[in-house]
Amino acid sequence: MPHGKLFVTTALPYANGAFHIGHIMEYIQADVWVRFQRMRGREVHFVCADDAHGAPIMLAAEKAGKTPEAFVAEIARGRKAYLDGFHIAFDHWHSTHSPENTALSQDIFRRLKRAGLIYTRPIEQLYDPAKGMFLADRYVKGECPRCGAPEQYGDACERCGSVYAATELKNPYSTLSGARPVLRASEHYFFRLSDERCKRFLRDWIATPGRLQPQVANKAREWLEGEGERALADWDISRDPPYFGIRVPDIAEEKYLYVWLDAPIGYLAALKHYFDTGKARARGEPRSFEEFLADPQTRQIHFIGKDIIYFHTLFWPAMLHFAGLPYRVPDHVWVHGFITVSGDKMSKSRGTGIDPLRYLELGMNPEWLRYYIAAKLNANVEDLDFSPQDFVARVNSDLVGKYVNIASRAAGFLERHFDGRLYDFRPDQLGAQHSAAAAAAASAQIADDYEQREFGKVVREAMRLADLANQRYDRARPWELAKDPLRREELHRVCSEAMLAFHALTVLLAPILPATAARVARELFGMRRDFVWDDLEARPARILPYRHLLTRVQERQLETLLSGAPLPPQAAPARPAAPAQQTGDDRAAAREITIDEFARLDLRVARIVKAEAVEGADKLLKLTLDLGDHRRTVFAGIKSSYAPEALEGRLTVVVANLAPRKMRFGVSEGMVLAASGDGPGVFLLSADEGAQPGMKVR
Ligand SMILES: [Zn+2]
Repeated sequence: MPHGKLFVTTALPYANGAFHIGHIMEYIQADVWVRFQRMRGREVHFVCADDAHGAPIMLAAEKAGKTPEAFVAEIARGRKAYLDGFHIAFDHWHSTHSPENTALSQDIFRRLKRAGLIYTRPIEQLYDPAKGMFLADRYVKGECPRCGAPEQYGDACERCGSVYAATELKNPYSTLSGARPVLRASEHYFFRLSDERCKRFLRDWIATPGRLQPQVANKAREWLEGEGERALADWDISRDPPYFGIRVPDIAEEKYLYVWLDAPIGYLAALKHYFDTGKARARGEPRSFEEFLADPQTRQIHFIGKDIIYFHTLFWPAMLHFAGLPYRVPDHVWVHGFITVSGDKMSKSRGTGIDPLRYLELGMNPEWLRYYIAAKLNANVEDLDFSPQDFVARVNSDLVGKYVNIASRAAGFLERHFDGRLYDFRPDQLGAQHSAAAAAAASAQIADDYEQREFGKVVREAMRLADLANQRYDRARPWELAKDPLRREELHRVCSEAMLAFHALTVLLAPILPATAARVARELFGMRRDFVWDDLEARPARILPYRHLLTRVQERQLETLLSGAPLPPQAAPARPAAPAQQTGDDRAAAREITIDEFARLDLRVARIVKAEAVEGADKLLKLTLDLGDHRRTVFAGIKSSYAPEALEGRLTVVVANLAPRKMRFGVSEGMVLAASGDGPGVFLLSADEGAQPGMKVR
């Protein structure tokens, strides 16, 4: 890939509902790729926006008793919890219902009109006289004109499979009002996609090597070269009122641009707003939106799903090309398949599958999902299946059991015997067999796999390297070396090699595991910044005390996630510390611990000074705790058992050195202790009279 600056987007989600797992998968794919580019030192501007227009949103808002503006604004407010929750680092999130999008859409429309690619003609369409609006096919039902099946939609019969025009339905009715629709004519605007100029341009655009995945290019070519009934048709780009959208410019009559015209322009509107608000400058890009876009070195890249290939490989590049500078045609459109859960296609309407927000509310680690999805993604347009057993196996055996395990095993010896210092290997001791050298040697191939979006290959290679490091460590039997004072140097080499391999693996996996990598950089290697790719060449000289990195997933969590049942209190995020708390190493869950391990828990007496319900969370209470010298906020899953006012003033016990956790409703700075069993009820621990806030529990 040439060394231009990157403008990267994901598809704009339709603002009629919350994100589903398909959105999150796409965002993870793009985010991993963007993070990789940044680690390599490239300038990337990664934006997205809500797709806010169209009849479905207008009608959904009406049903909810809101204006469309208020409706989409509310949807937009919900986005942050998902994006932050899964570490998806868009630089900017905007909306197609914005002044930027109105200006850009009308500008592009005018330019296309001047280029002779827009014309009008009257079309006849079903019209609902009661509702006073034209009806898209999905708002008309009736009897199938072929087999007579009742209750069929206006485009195709679900019983016999026939495809027909809505006007052919027998006894049609409007699903909006029940009224019988009438035929009515209206003047519509069309984009002349069938124009020879468009076709010539698109042939070239599609054929540019490396621009599209081969199967996507083939599909686009098939549409472009269709003949007879399958010939490329012009595109109806206007709608009549009532409609929630952008006005067709320069005419007195009230007409709107079809939502699919202004939606992709929303990519540019988001970028423009990002530039205009100074965020691009803050990222080191001093030019204007127009200058950046018009630069031949800039690369415009869209990540999308396979259901919207038609729009992104025909209309969108043609619109941009004939609109002219500063608009540029997309350099790449990268397409992924759908996500299924246990082989079932996800259904938005049935609401089955994996709810991403529920995943977070269950306290499941977002990086488990990032890792799992990355492990299953490749550069082809293939569907990806989420299998619960496979998820548990990959997270527990591979991510935790192989990768995290390396550090958690070696760190103890390094801390106890060598004060955290790492062995200073001479160059001749870093042969190909050395685990860290092997990781460095594989890095060029791994970089190439990231670049090509072959994340599955990245993960497989990383796990091969982790296996290698674990095997080398096991063969050296450091636990025996540690008993022999004469073999100290050997022990030092073995554990240092494992730790250097862990360092390299963390750099290699950082695009997939950004939060873990950030912690490893800062907490274990004492760095003041995140890893960059060149850190593969660095050899740290020491480590700080190892802190537990990643827990294992519990099958119970997946069962609760997929069941759709209300979240049990013990699964709520601020759950009580149970003896089965899993650790990131290989030892059994309920193993004995030493007094030193217990001493690592900073348990403190705290006074609950304030307890409040959390809007939108039926399990949680927000507690303000007084720890003597400071106050902090903790979310606890105890709402089912306590009225907030009954808690205020009482003493309890808090785990004070638990890493803060970002939750949907805010940051939880610790965990209060409570008991629970198989039956209902959660029971908060308390301290006897006389205890003072801030006292240590030991
Ligand atoms: Zn039929």
